Amino acid sequence: MGACGASAFPPEGLAGALTADLPRIAMIADRVRACGRCPLSAGRTNAVPGEGDGSSGILLVGEAPGRNEDETGRPFCGAAGRNLDLALKEAGILRPTVFVTSIVKCRPPENRDPTPAERAACRPHLLDQVAALRPRVLVALGRHGLSGLLGEAPPNFASLPGSFVAGPGGIPVFVSLHPAAVIYRQRWKEAYLRHWRAFGEWHRSGVPAVPGLVLSPPPSAE
Ligand code: SF4
Repeated sequence: MGACGASAFPPEGLAGALTADLPRIAMIADRVRACGRCPLSAGRTNAVPGEGDGSSGILLVGEAPGRNEDETGRPFCGAAGRNLDLALKEAGILRPTVFVTSIVKCRPPENRDPTPAERAACRPHLLDQVAALRPRVLVALGRHGLSGLLGEAPPNFASLPGSFVAGPGGIPVFVSLHPAAVIYRQRWKEAYLRHWRAFGEWHRSGVPAVPGLVLSPPPSAE
């Protein structure tokens, strides 16, 4: 199934099985769709609040919606979405059980990077989602996902993919390469899939994550 081929959030019949606060997640999604806190609201076709039931305890955070996401209102469509599906398959994790979102919920024009002001304006939505989902672990999809979670850009991003850092509210953040960044770089793609394989093993092991724990070396160390 393509990354954008299924129905919208929240899925039916899952509420009883979840630890996440689904009504609060739905309320946040409504707030995002009506949000005009930053200029990105003016150019959007659809805001993209995020989707997934969060029952795995995993919350994934990317950078921003692109054209496909803007058209559908759903996160990680197209080639990047297919690479995300590949990573989750490698990890043995079902996509509907993770919550997938981004640091800004509306598409920046021409897919430019979101500005610091746009990130800051959207950050409360992200932190609300973290509080409502109560995840075991956050996953930063690329440098921008990580800077959105931490509230500032990490100076040493290249050394971080494949490892954990301290995140908001004491929740550990696993750092991944961005699914779009590996499309044309075979060496990075191999590292990306290796990281996700290791992440899946860690997730099933029940071992606590501590900042600095390295599951698999970053491509810069090879
Ligand atoms: S990007 Fe975030 S803060 Fe800006 S309008 Fe969209 S939802 Fe609101």
